[in-house]
Amino acid sequence: MSELSTSIQYLSGVGPKRAELLQRELGLGTLSDLIHFYPFRYMDRSGLQRIAGIDSSLASVQVRGRVVQVTLYGPGSTVLAQSHYDANGQAVTVLGEVKERGGSGKTGDRLHFNAAKRLSVIVDDGSGRMEMVFFKGIKWNYQRLALGSEFIFFGKPQEFNGRYNMVHPEVDAPQQDGPAQGGLTGVYPSTEKLKNGGITGKVMCRLESAALALCLHEVTETLPEYLIRELGLCSLQYALKNIHFPSDSYALEKATRRLKFEELFFLQLSLLKQKYVRSRAEKGLEMPRVGTDFHACYNSLPYSLTGAQQRVIKEIRADMMSGHQMNRLLQGDVGSGKTMVAVLSCLIAVGNGYQACIMAPTEVLAQQHFANISKYLAPTSVKCAILTGASSVRERREIHAGLEDGSIGIIVGTHALIEDPVRFKALGLAVIDEQHRFGVDQRSRLWAKGPDGVPPHVLVMTATPIPRTLAMTLYGDLDVSVIDEMPPGRKPVQTMCIGESKRPAMYSFMKKEIAAGRQVFVVFPMIFESEKTDMQNLERGYEDIIARFPLSEGYKIAIVHGQQSNEEKNFNMAAFAAGRAQILVSTTVIEVGVDVPNASVMVIESAQRFGLSQLHQLRGRVGRGADKSYCILVKDVKTSKEAQHRLDLMCQTENGFDIAEEDMRMRGPGDLEGTQQSGLPFNLSIASLAKDGRLLEEARGVASHVLDADPTLSLPQNELLSRELRKDKYVFRDYSKIS
Ligand code: ADP
Ligand code: MG
Repeated sequence: MSELSTSIQYLSGVGPKRAELLQRELGLGTLSDLIHFYPFRYMDRSGLQRIAGIDSSLASVQVRGRVVQVTLYGPGSTVLAQSHYDANGQAVTVLGEVKERGGSGKTGDRLHFNAAKRLSVIVDDGSGRMEMVFFKGIKWNYQRLALGSEFIFFGKPQEFNGRYNMVHPEVDAPQQDGPAQGGLTGVYPSTEKLKNGGITGKVMCRLESAALALCLHEVTETLPEYLIRELGLCSLQYALKNIHFPSDSYALEKATRRLKFEELFFLQLSLLKQKYVRSRAEKGLEMPRVGTDFHACYNSLPYSLTGAQQRVIKEIRADMMSGHQMNRLLQGDVGSGKTMVAVLSCLIAVGNGYQACIMAPTEVLAQQHFANISKYLAPTSVKCAILTGASSVRERREIHAGLEDGSIGIIVGTHALIEDPVRFKALGLAVIDEQHRFGVDQRSRLWAKGPDGVPPHVLVMTATPIPRTLAMTLYGDLDVSVIDEMPPGRKPVQTMCIGESKRPAMYSFMKKEIAAGRQVFVVFPMIFESEKTDMQNLERGYEDIIARFPLSEGYKIAIVHGQQSNEEKNFNMAAFAAGRAQILVSTTVIEVGVDVPNASVMVIESAQRFGLSQLHQLRGRVGRGADKSYCILVKDVKTSKEAQHRLDLMCQTENGFDIAEEDMRMRGPGDLEGTQQSGLPFNLSIASLAKDGRLLEEARGVASHVLDADPTLSLPQNELLSRELRKDKYVFRDYSKIS
């Protein structure tokens, strides 16, 4: 048996209990797991600081000094024992009183470590003195840190009573060799339980060192020789050794680059390979024609398409003509004109004798899509219908019949489209709007609705700008189109952030805008629709606004929230959309898609509670028609530094992709709003999607190059690659059914 697959348990100093702890806390089972578990940062322990020069700006310091006083404290800071030097330089130890139960004091002739609460050690390095404090491991440290002995202390300095001390510093004897001293020392991810179980940073280093000594020589290359040479990478063995124990910062850089590249490369290689395989295997519906309805619609548009819209439609057309199934993600900021692209794509399907469906995440959006699309379709002969949860039994029956006999060409709807026993005569294209609201299996059910088992083309539209690096990974096997140009006439939205004190001024401003014929959104956070306090805030806000904008002065206010019935919601939304109300007070239900061009002001209450992309989506509701639009972010006094940073960013930029990038940097990709990934479907152990964007692109480029030359990875030179891809960790990623 090879050392690599040996259980960690057999490593000296581990044993069954610690092995279980390492497995549970870090998922480490074998020596191979261990050597692939990397430090997340490094401490430079090559330098020593002078105690006199320490200040609070230093995150950690290392000092070397002599122990000049040791004090052992008991309960209530009673002194159990103290050693120090007297005036003549003689070492003296004074034992204090230990109060035994029962009260009679006695002078201890031996130390009662059980009673000890704290150990204080004063260290002198010639420039000054510093206290080291221990609450744990008291006996061990008391015995080790004897008066007059010299040690190296490493830790985080804290200010206490005007001086610096360190609590539980790492302690090393000088001159002792080993990984914990000198140069760069790795710091490993850890948990409270690990530390309590005795697996400290130092122990981790020791385990890594022991594991490498046992099995590094067994590690075999995962990248073919020709790639290592072309890319100037170091060997895997060198990388593993230096990621744990870098000989210097240059070696660390080489090691990091190699390991990050490898991780990103195999991720991309597996995704792209699936894409190759799928496009070969899946039969797609061939749609060679454009059709008269497409032209009829196109020619009667009240505006000309933007360059980006034209380009995207061409990309979609090429996909639909190709005979392969289209799987395309269409990204475009709020208001970039995705609906038009969807309609024209649907008309291509219709022009080839197929049907199309457009799915929206909410009833309101489906209704709005239906209204818009019906307008676009007026000059065509295509019949369009809507199916939602609110459709009556009779409507449903008619629609089912129309879809089955093919008389309905385009159907707009909500989840009802998949949940219902809807059968199409020939579904050729499924458009999914705002995809992040749909679950994976819901989408895949659409696939079954294609004619004769051939899956329909799929176009997923999202207004949540996904940073390029993430899109390349999450949707690595999808094609991505981006509408990166706004229709002409969109005015920038002036964004400002205010506190409570400016509220009266804000209300006057709203009145001014309303007097000019504009409308105003006021949005309250409702993170969980069920949360009571959120509901109360909304109601209080609503009453406040009613009080300041009274009906007697002609103000009409609509309110929409998640606890209303669908009819109520639709009624109120419609009132605002038609201009019958000047103010719409709502929760984030209006976040997605709603289009009221006359609205010029977006007020976001408790703005600090929203995430960046949500703020961006909300702001996108204005600036669609009015001459000038405004977004007012109202923040609480309780706004954290991080939240303030988000609000500042909102005031600085309107670019959705910049905001998404920053969102990812601030929150980490696993948390990215809109992707609904509570963790990515894969683990990156060293690379970061947020930080290693350039390397990711390079890795993807190389992967694509390799596959171009050898799509099945069957050339001898690529044997290592196909062997690596057969490993378990690359199997789960079946995005072929769109996720
Ligand atoms: P989104 O990408 O957010 O779904 P929409 O498709 O709803 O955007 O379009 C936003 C608004 O822009 C709509 O009122 C639409 O009529 C308008 N629009 C779309 N394309 C153009 C264009 N090329 N020129 C002018 N206006 C356009
Ligand atoms: Mg839209």
